[in-house]
Amino acid sequence: MELYNFAPGPAMLPQEVLQQIAREIFNWRGTQVSVMEIGHRTKLFQSVIEELQHKIRQLMNIPKNYKILFVQGGGQGQFSAIPMNLLGKNATADYFVTGTWSKKAVDAAKVYGQVNIVTQTDGISIPHASTWQLNDKAAYAYYCPNETINGLAFAEIPYTKNVPLVADMTSNILATEIDVSKFGLIMAAAQKNLGIAGVTLVIVRDDLLEQQLAITPSVWNYKLLAEANSSLNTPPVFAIYVMDLVVDWLIKQGGIANIAKMNYAKASKLYDYIDNCDFYLNTVEKPYRSLINVPFNLADNRLVNEFVRQANDHNLKYLAGHASVGGLRVSLYNAMPEAGVNALIEFMRQFAKNNG
Ligand code: PMP
Repeated sequence: MELYNFAPGPAMLPQEVLQQIAREIFNWRGTQVSVMEIGHRTKLFQSVIEELQHKIRQLMNIPKNYKILFVQGGGQGQFSAIPMNLLGKNATADYFVTGTWSKKAVDAAKVYGQVNIVTQTDGISIPHASTWQLNDKAAYAYYCPNETINGLAFAEIPYTKNVPLVADMTSNILATEIDVSKFGLIMAAAQKNLGIAGVTLVIVRDDLLEQQLAITPSVWNYKLLAEANSSLNTPPVFAIYVMDLVVDWLIKQGGIANIAKMNYAKASKLYDYIDNCDFYLNTVEKPYRSLINVPFNLADNRLVNEFVRQANDHNLKYLAGHASVGGLRVSLYNAMPEAGVNALIEFMRQFAKNNG
């Protein structure tokens, strides 16, 4: 029985990438040593950084006036780094609160400035744009397009006039095509769609590099990071190497247009099954459902643990929902093949038949 890992802890990697890591672990690119032991200032490693930036720029069609940075401290590190880097001239920021991660981002930002809440979710939808309380004078407007835990997503990129839009794309980076020019800054911790924990991708527009607070630590200062080509201190070489392999794998899949097609196919199959069956339910309103994270529940809540146990025995791993919300959750990151979704639906059908 094939094994599928649905709601991973730190990472979900394509099998091909894991195999390549295994092949190269003792001898990376003919150097006779592991990539972890290569000097990060060598031409060889610096060229990995530069080529990776180039490939990401091509894949996402990133305009020239944006820097591509590799930063440590994870997604939560960025919850603080963003306000520190952007509130230096104007200390107010707009935040959309649509789930656990944007709420945490607000808590972090409040330490550095004034936060205006644009809107707040009811948990099953995102309030209509006509009700948003945007501040024209905000330094930036922050949102999380795909809330990983809540399975709630924006149907469209919010329009914030001339206020730079900042997005936490940790769980949906490179899952669909996006127009980067609509953003001032995009950040994504790597461990969902881009590799493993330890590195966070930051894509930032050049004009936003001049407004950091004086207290910004140098290792989180976007301007200094850009000047040092993300090698201000020792970069997380292994995490960057894995990101490079994942990006190569994405290119081999036919780029983001193709990946998006596969992601839509996986998600619609699963939602269709859930919607057409009384045994399972997803309460998020259709336009706001995440393409990537599908939380659901059993009509009879008492069966959740049994569902998780039996799924585990069928090699369908980690289906328990996040501890804060309970229920079940399926993560359909780029590395999840459609065959995994097919196997899951087949199991769900069988479980419903046996317990319905
Ligand atoms: N933002 C989102 C959308 C996330 O899903 C997560 C982690 N699951 C984070 C931020 C936090 O990332 P990290 O654990 O790297 O701090």
